[in-house]
Amino acid sequence: MTGGGSASDHAHLMGAVGMQRCPFMPTYGAPPVMFVSGQGAWLTDSEGRSYLDLLCGLAVTGLGHAHPSITEAVAAQAATLTHVSNLFANKPATELATRLDALLGGGGQVFLCNSGAEANEAAIKLARRWGGPGRSTIISTWGGFHGRTLGALAATGQPAKQEPFAPMPEGFRHATYGDVADIERQIDPATSAVLVEAIQGEGGVVVPPSGYLADLRRLCDERGLLLIVDEVQTGLGRTGTWFAFEHDGIRPDVVTMAKALGNGMPIGACWAIADVAGAFTPGDHGTTYGGQPLASAAALATLDVLEGMDAPTVATALGARLAQRLGDLEGVQSVRGRGLLLAVELVSPLDARVVARRALERGIVVNAVTPTALRLAPPFILTDDEVDHALAILGAVIVECLEEGRAP
Ligand SMILES: *Cc1c(COP(=O)(O)O)cnc(C)c1O
Repeated sequence: MTGGGSASDHAHLMGAVGMQRCPFMPTYGAPPVMFVSGQGAWLTDSEGRSYLDLLCGLAVTGLGHAHPSITEAVAAQAATLTHVSNLFANKPATELATRLDALLGGGGQVFLCNSGAEANEAAIKLARRWGGPGRSTIISTWGGFHGRTLGALAATGQPAKQEPFAPMPEGFRHATYGDVADIERQIDPATSAVLVEAIQGEGGVVVPPSGYLADLRRLCDERGLLLIVDEVQTGLGRTGTWFAFEHDGIRPDVVTMAKALGNGMPIGACWAIADVAGAFTPGDHGTTYGGQPLASAAALATLDVLEGMDAPTVATALGARLAQRLGDLEGVQSVRGRGLLLAVELVSPLDARVVARRALERGIVVNAVTPTALRLAPPFILTDDEVDHALAILGAVIVECLEEGRAP
């Protein structure tokens, strides 16, 4: 059982009260609450308590819960056509691929799938197909996160997550994040691509030095490598631009996205410039559900709302206000991140896991992205009153934890 809790504790917390044992495999820690509904930035648990959601299901529900436009689009599509397979075309997927290509500047093609890991698997297979025999190695970065399937896990630069599942697939190397020279050192004749996050999300909201992606773009051009940017967490407006690589004024060859794309409906996408995308031939890759009309309709509605509200501009303004006010709190050492993807580094000896748990008890959802930092990935729709509420409670919780730490 995870976390040292007993099987019955875990079962109880999973809501499996009265069951002989927990119905879930113990891949996650025991959850502290069960949520039953959501509305806008708010969640309600099984005891009827409310929570302000500053995490959005890990940067997914950026438009809030039960957004009327998305609810309506999903309901209408569910009543029309949910699935046909990729043997046949469907309108929502076709429109979605066109919209995503336009958002990325045009001239590309899209593979639709169901998650971030799958988007990266598509990118990895595409890079190998494009590189051809003998040119299959992908360089990614230490501390990076690309998903839990074996290929994405091999790219993920976190040995602790890989070791229990050894051996990893071959063809992956790692370099220090933010250090172009270290990527360059890893290049050999077998290298086909460089895969990086624009900001390392799971790695602790690590923003690379300004110009990092521009330097990588130049390096990849010089050496004839693909630049693949994983925008699964950073994409679709959250960092103040539609994609975080835009901050560096570049365009990658391949871009992966997922999380925010369906505002909660499972969907992912891998985009590539057409010359590269054309390395795939029919039969090379596929997924039963990818591009199914229901998830595609959710993504189209999500894009409509994000574009209508100018999500990047909202993220820039709201993120700046939040970051400033968080930085002013007692017990906060620094705030990093971009737009609405923030990490709040706490002063020693505060434990971010304890602070996050206490915040949850007081009705604020955040998580500990490292043992010393809270992650906030709040929704674009947060009101001024909600910001005030969040800051008041987070501030109080941090001070409480500080005082407990000082008590004899
Ligand atoms: C969450 C995440 C993934 C994995 O996405 P899943 O949908 O969980 O498979 C991949 N890359 C990044 C950068 C992520 O944040």
